[in-house]
Amino acid sequence: MMNPSRLLEALAFAATRHRNQRRKDASASPYINHPIAVATMLATAGHVQDGPLLMAAVLHDTVEDTRTTPREIKAKFGAEVASLVRELTDNKKLAREVRKRLQIEHAAVASPRAKQLKIADKICNIEDIAATPPTGWSKARKREYLDWAEQVVAGCRGVNPRLDARFDQALRRARKKLRLKTRD
Ligand code: NDP
Ligand code: ZN
Repeated sequence: MMNPSRLLEALAFAATRHRNQRRKDASASPYINHPIAVATMLATAGHVQDGPLLMAAVLHDTVEDTRTTPREIKAKFGAEVASLVRELTDNKKLAREVRKRLQIEHAAVASPRAKQLKIADKICNIEDIAATPPTGWSKARKREYLDWAEQVVAGCRGVNPRLDARFDQALRRARKKLRLKTRD
């Protein structure tokens, strides 16, 4: 097994940075539950044992959603992890529609590790939308999110077939639960 020390340090850092954030579900779950879920998805469904990739998973939303900088991640956890987190970070100064389009475009040219992290992130968010959705989201908004996530993941396939299959299952189940039409 990989040395767990670095992963636990990354988790403690992410927990501190996200300490005042909550998810958008009805019970406003602690935000850190999501990065934990994404790393767990990689390790369990994806059989990933790659230390820097699991560290990047627990850190993946720190730069986008907190005051954390890529430089800080690099100093604490190394260039490899920092580069992966950067690949997962949207530029929040851009308009939502532009960000959405760029995610689809960037996914296809991302590194193989970032592609796996991106799929795990989308699996977790889709499972959340089915089980503990953001409060106030209409069925149409949920459907739009699922359709968009499917387009992002189209560019990430082929690196880790187990994650590809888990994504397909999550999407199918979410659409069934929402009584949305499936494509196949
Ligand atoms: P948001 O980016 O506002 O919300 C989705 C993100 O919220 C997820 O990617 C996830 O990001 C985070 N999140 C936090 N809690 C949850 C949870 N419980 N379940 C799932 N995700 C959670 O939404 P989008 O901009 O992606 O909008 C979705 C779609 O809806 C788009 O296609 C957009 O065009 C459309 N839309 C519709 C509106 C309407 O009123 N009908 C208004 C705005 C957009 P992370 O992994 O980073 O935590
Ligand atoms: Zn995320």
